[in-house]
Amino acid sequence: MPQTSYPESYYAASANPVPSRPALQGDIETDICIIGAGYTGLSTALFLLESGFKVTVLEAARVGFGASGRNGGQIVNSYSRDIDVIERTVGSQQAKLLGDMAFEGGRIIRERIAKYHIDCALKDGGVFAALSEKQMGHLRSQKALWERYGHKQLQLLGKDEMRGIVATEQYVGGMLDMSGGHIHPLNLALGEAAAVESLGGVIYEQSPALSIQRGQQPVVSTPQGRVKAKFLVVAGNAYLGNLLPELAAKSMPCGTQVITTEPLGDELAASLLPQDYCVEDCNYLLDYYRLSEDKRLIFGGGVVYGARDPANIEAIIRPKMLKVFPQLANVKIDYAWTGNFLLTLSRLPQVGRLGDNIYYSQGCSGHGVTYTHLAGKVLAEALRGQAERFDAFATLPHYPFPGGNLLRVPFTAMGAWYYSLRDKLGI
Ligand SMILES: Cc1cc2nc3c(=O)[nH]c(=O)nc-3n(C[C@H](O)[C@H](O)[C@H](O)COP(=O)(O)OP(=O)(O)OC[C@H]3O[C@@H](n4cnc5c(N)ncnc54)[C@H](O)[C@@H]3O)c2cc1C
Repeated sequence: MPQTSYPESYYAASANPVPSRPALQGDIETDICIIGAGYTGLSTALFLLESGFKVTVLEAARVGFGASGRNGGQIVNSYSRDIDVIERTVGSQQAKLLGDMAFEGGRIIRERIAKYHIDCALKDGGVFAALSEKQMGHLRSQKALWERYGHKQLQLLGKDEMRGIVATEQYVGGMLDMSGGHIHPLNLALGEAAAVESLGGVIYEQSPALSIQRGQQPVVSTPQGRVKAKFLVVAGNAYLGNLLPELAAKSMPCGTQVITTEPLGDELAASLLPQDYCVEDCNYLLDYYRLSEDKRLIFGGGVVYGARDPANIEAIIRPKMLKVFPQLANVKIDYAWTGNFLLTLSRLPQVGRLGDNIYYSQGCSGHGVTYTHLAGKVLAEALRGQAERFDAFATLPHYPFPGGNLLRVPFTAMGAWYYSLRDKLGI
C-alpha cells in the first residue's frame, strides 16, 4: 500500500520528532473507535481516555495530516457565524448554550498544552482587522453581543493602536482578543497524539476506514484489519470523502492556501508585527497571518470551492501578502501549500448521531482550531451520557448546497464573489 505523508509545508519541515505508527493489522475490539487523527479525533480521544474509556484511533495518513497539521495556526475563538444570527435561527435558549461555549476552545487548548507539556510555540493575542468603517461597526456590535454572553475580554482598537500592532496602512481599526493567539499547529496535533498514547490510547496510521458496517456493534474495515467498537466517532472532516453519504450531501470541501517566507530576522519581523499577535481581516474571503517562532511570516488566504489544488499557490497568495506588507517585496517564499476545510451552508458545525452509536462532528467552516477542541469535549460528554451541550450543536439545522453535487461549486463561488465584491466596495 502506498504511504501517504505530510505535504511539504513549513510545519512538516519544523515538526518535533514524529514517531511513525503502524497500520492496523487483523481484527481488534475497543470501546470507542475514532476515525481521523486531526484535532477533532485527538481531542475526543483525550477526553474519553481521561474518563477511562478504551480508545482506538484510525488515521488514513499521518497524525495531523489534514487541516490540523497545515492550518494558519490561529487560535480564533467563536464560530464562523455571528451569534445574533444563531439567536435568530435557533432561539435564545439554544443560542445561550452555544454562546457560553464560544470561547471555551481556546481555554481547552491552553489546558492541554499545560497538562501534557506540549511544545508548540503558544503565543497569546489575536486581532480582527477592519478594512472599512462598515467592518469596524461590525466589530463594535460583535463586542457588545459577546459581552451579553459574559465574554468581556475583547478590546476595540483605533487606527493608531492598530498601527502599533501591524505595520500597514490597510486597516481603519480592529479588535484584540487576548484569549486568542497562535501555535505551531502540527506540533500541537503531535503533542496531543503523544498524550493520547500516554493514557493508553492506540493510534494506527496509514489505516483508512474504507467502510462501516452499521449495527449494534459497528465494524470499521481498513485495508488490512477491522475494528469492532461499541461506539464510533467520525472525525475525518474535509478528507472523509463519501464514507457517510448522509453527511457529504450537506457539506463541501474547500481549499485554502498558505505561504511562508524565508526567516526575516528579528528586526524586520518585529517591525511588521511588534506584539507578535496573529491577525485575520474581516473580509468574507479573509487573509490571515502571523509570525513563526523562527521569525518567518506565515500568510494564508483564498478559498477554492470544491478543494481542487491550485497549480501555483505563491502566485495567488504572494500579491495578497504584498498588499498588506509591501515592504516584503524582495523576500523569498520558502514554503507554499494547500489544505482543505469543510464548509456547510450555514457555516455552523455539522454535529450529530447516526443511529445509536455513530457520532460525528465536522464542517465548522473556519475557526476550527478552537471549535474542534471544544467538539472533542462535547462529544465525550455525550458518550458519557451528558448530551445537553452536544444537542445544542446537533439540533442546528443543515441543508444541502443549492445545485446539488454538480452545481454546488459554481453556485457557492458566485455567492462568495458577491460578498467579496461588497467587501471591496466597503458596502
Ligand atoms: C490551510 C488551512 C488554514 C486554516 N487556518 C486556520 C486557522 O488559522 N485557524 C482556525 O481556527 N482554523 C483554521 N483552519 C481550519 C482548521 O484547521 C480545521 O477546521 C481543523 O483543523 C479541522 O480539524 P479536524 O480534526 O476536524 O479535521 P482534519 O484536521 O482535516 O483531520 C481529519 C483527519 O481525518 C483523516 N481521515 C479522513 N478520512 C479518513 C478515513 N476514512 N479513515 C481514517 N482517517 C481519515 C484525515 O487523514 C485527517 O488526518 C484552516 C484550515 C486550512 C486547510
